[in-house]
Amino acid sequence: MVVEHICGFKKEIYCRECGTELIQNSHDRLFCQKCGRHPTILCPNCGRLW
Ligand SMILES: [Zn+2]
Ligand SMILES: [Zn+2]
Repeated sequence: MVVEHICGFKKEIYCRECGTELIQNSHDRLFCQKCGRHPTILCPNCGRLW
């Protein structure tokens, strides 16, 4: 799943723990369905928290 940051940057992002593609929840936060984590990731485009 391609996730989109608030700055418009779009990319597929994978969980560092298990390698599963992250999804975006209703609050635009990244979420791993497999481990149930909300990984803290900085957007490579704008450097803000995803
Ligand atoms: Zn995971
Ligand atoms: Zn961004």
